[in-house]
Amino acid sequence: MNELLSHPHSPSLYCQPESQLPRMKYLWCSLLAGLLCYFNGSHLLQAESSYPAEYKAAVNSITVDELKSHIEFLASDSLEGREAASQGGQAAGTYIRGELQKNGIQPGLVDEGYFQEFDGGFRNIIGIIPGNDPELKKEYVVIGAHYDHVGYGKPSNSRGGIGQIHNGADDNASGTAALLEAIEALSQHKELPRRSLMFVFWDAEEMGLLGSKHWVNHPTVPLDQIAIYLNLDMVGRLKDNPLCLFGSRSSYGLRSCTVKCNHRETGVKIKFDSAIRPDSDHWPFYQRGIPFLMLHTGKHADYHRPEDDAHKIDYEGARKCSQLLTQLALDFALQNEKPKYRNANQDILAGIDQQARIDSSEPPRLGVAWNAEKYRQGNLLITQVLANTAAEKAGLKVGDEIIKVDGKSPVSEPGFAALIRSAPVKIIMQIKRMMEDKILEVPVNLAGQPVRLGIEWKTDESDPAVVVISDIAKSSLADRAELKINDRIYEIADKSFASSDEFRKLATTSPLPFTVLVEREGLLKKFTIQSTK
Ligand SMILES: [Zn+2]
Repeated sequence: MNELLSHPHSPSLYCQPESQLPRMKYLWCSLLAGLLCYFNGSHLLQAESSYPAEYKAAVNSITVDELKSHIEFLASDSLEGREAASQGGQAAGTYIRGELQKNGIQPGLVDEGYFQEFDGGFRNIIGIIPGNDPELKKEYVVIGAHYDHVGYGKPSNSRGGIGQIHNGADDNASGTAALLEAIEALSQHKELPRRSLMFVFWDAEEMGLLGSKHWVNHPTVPLDQIAIYLNLDMVGRLKDNPLCLFGSRSSYGLRSCTVKCNHRETGVKIKFDSAIRPDSDHWPFYQRGIPFLMLHTGKHADYHRPEDDAHKIDYEGARKCSQLLTQLALDFALQNEKPKYRNANQDILAGIDQQARIDSSEPPRLGVAWNAEKYRQGNLLITQVLANTAAEKAGLKVGDEIIKVDGKSPVSEPGFAALIRSAPVKIIMQIKRMMEDKILEVPVNLAGQPVRLGIEWKTDESDPAVVVISDIAKSSLADRAELKINDRIYEIADKSFASSDEFRKLATTSPLPFTVLVEREGLLKKFTIQSTK
């Protein structure tokens, strides 16, 4: 990883603090239906049913022992910190080529070589597993990791200990080893991928992404044939932390695809981060309009110091990263359509990660405000009637006290808001009105449909087949089932959906009890929605 390239003052690339956020512009439920037509919402489930046994075998062939031996060699003092073009860097390159040859990986260059040499002494190392589909084999899933590090350290790239060997076990012997293991796993099932797989070990990343920049300027396959770029940089310090996943908003459905892969064989917590920084080899690809995903286990005190050593690596965590990478590579090599580039900078400006709650643009079902303090004391007193709402049409007035809603007290559990949310369209309110002797019986036609779950949700343009919970009514069925704000719903009553309207239909018509499949921190969990009766 190369933090020197980060320009912290470039606003288009960074998350902004919440206070500076422009107002969120989520596409709301019903507005989105038209945009979703092109999207085949059930493609993930199709992938699920065509998920071959060899896939599982490949993923589970990745072991800690081999990862360990790669990292211990690459991060040994004998390689002197693998500075690009140094003797140690050359030795690392030769080792990697040997591994590609051992696994029968086809050389990536037309002249039969594995090395793409540039700038007098730097070498990218490229290998290919050709695809098996006559058409799709022209397209490539590119998977890369940089294998160079900073050698003995310089003021420009060391954070301390200049003159000592910086072994770079995490940065990025870990990513190099995880990629080597993924290659070995995939090489045992060469008949599997429909698209071609291209593996690239970048040189001179630490000098300013020189290897990946050189490649996109001198690509060995046409750039427009690249389905996606998968990057590994520093994957050796997972421990109990969530895996950081960058780039999921650079196309459509990348997040749910990653989650499904993770659910199958890996099961690691994932933090999806919308930041896109020019600090690793995904950057030149993203700049060329190519979607990417990057796995990363976080910076630490040993970053770019001599202490980044092999004995500090979490090998089990690195194995999980390698497994997830293998699954992603296969999934993107098997999907019918290649991911379409999406400009994710708009989301970064909007602070999409920070915004948990947003206001609903749905019209309110009733349209009144009430005095909160009186409400706590047991009286529901209307303080405002909004124009053009059900409340106004029914003739409710400021000062009215609502005594009953369809025979139920509005001030006892689950509370007035939840009561209105789940009420049928036609209700009768008992109202005590000033200057009136009798309790009035007022029929009200509520707007919209009753929401049994008690949630509000938003859609996510970059993940069209999920909805994201944006609010949960206290004591609602969803609240009782322990659903949470920001849970991402994948299925309801065991059915997936392709749009917010489809979701709404399932949520309002599925007979209770039913299950809700949600993603929380990269993991899929099932919750049961039960009737309160
Ligand atoms: Zn680095």
